[in-house]
Amino acid sequence: MTDLASDTYSQLDVLPGPAVLAHVVDVHCHPTDTAIQPESMDKLPIKICAMATRQSDQAKVADLATAYPSKVIPCFGHHPWFTHWISLDPTASKEQHYQSLFANSSQKHAETLQAMLPTIPDPIPLSSLVSTLRANLRAFPHAMLGEVGLDRSARVPLDPNTTPRVLSPFTIPIDHQMAVLTAQLEVAVELRRNVSLHDVKAHQATADLLKSMSEKFKENWWEISVDLHSCGVSPEMWKDIERVHPNVFLSLSTCINSRSPNHVALIKACAANRLLAESDIHDVNYCAPYTWDMIRTIANFKGWRIEEQWDYDDGSKEEEWGVVKRLEENWKAFQAGNHPSPLKSKKPEWVTGGNRKSRMRSAKDRNEWVSDDSELDS
Ligand SMILES: [Zn+2]
Repeated sequence: MTDLASDTYSQLDVLPGPAVLAHVVDVHCHPTDTAIQPESMDKLPIKICAMATRQSDQAKVADLATAYPSKVIPCFGHHPWFTHWISLDPTASKEQHYQSLFANSSQKHAETLQAMLPTIPDPIPLSSLVSTLRANLRAFPHAMLGEVGLDRSARVPLDPNTTPRVLSPFTIPIDHQMAVLTAQLEVAVELRRNVSLHDVKAHQATADLLKSMSEKFKENWWEISVDLHSCGVSPEMWKDIERVHPNVFLSLSTCINSRSPNHVALIKACAANRLLAESDIHDVNYCAPYTWDMIRTIANFKGWRIEEQWDYDDGSKEEEWGVVKRLEENWKAFQAGNHPSPLKSKKPEWVTGGNRKSRMRSAKDRNEWVSDDSELDS
């Protein structure tokens, strides 16, 4: 989620024709955060993945996807910023629940929490969230889990009903966020749904989570895809994730990622087949221009051409693909899931490749024989 950077919109009003935009997907946005005019949806030239974030917007996302099935991929889930509204212990009272999250020895904080209690909602039990999530995902066979994730920097507002938001001293304990996240991920694996994952200042926890999920769910984990959305991991960390997790993709946005020069190194570091583009915008009128802006940025730093028309045929060669075609193919791979398990034993190097010397050496070590006319290394 983000606030609209309207000052940069003036540079974003040049879009390609509808034939090109028809192949663009905004893989992460929040259109239901703003009132949506039907004309805006009719004009929308791209597909969007509409995120839910809290209890009150799950139905809004469902309604939008029902009204515009060809344009909207619905995503259901609870964002880490709102996980304090979810209770892991159904027997705890409202006060006990919030005290257990925000317990602090300081008397001042105890008073702050008491003052907040009337304005913050009664917590919903995790079990009821999970059954609603399951029902929503079942109702939309192509729906994803999102937006879910981990956030170490967000502070809880004093009163969620007032704007501008005034922040309390409280952050949501990462263990609590993790419990809510893993319960949702279990449903995603069970129903074989892809995930849009938020990670702010929780990179190591996210990397550990990906590892533990792959160990827990084994083959089933590689059936689904995970998009690290607007993520600010270092290029080095992304390389590690990319190597170990064939089901993890990286989507970048102008709104979030462009704030840091890190995004250029991240685009350069990311494998060509793992990149996606998003807006993270909460006004549907801006989804196309902001997604397009990131597509141009990706094209620029990857050295890919930007399509002006759509003239691909079945025989088009990958090396000739422009940025839109490449990102579209990445999106198709993301949607299809079923990634190769990195845990499956691969053919040994002496059969599949490696240089000839090492092949011979490995073969000798294994007391095997490699024919002299085995294919040469390219
Ligand atoms: Zn978001």
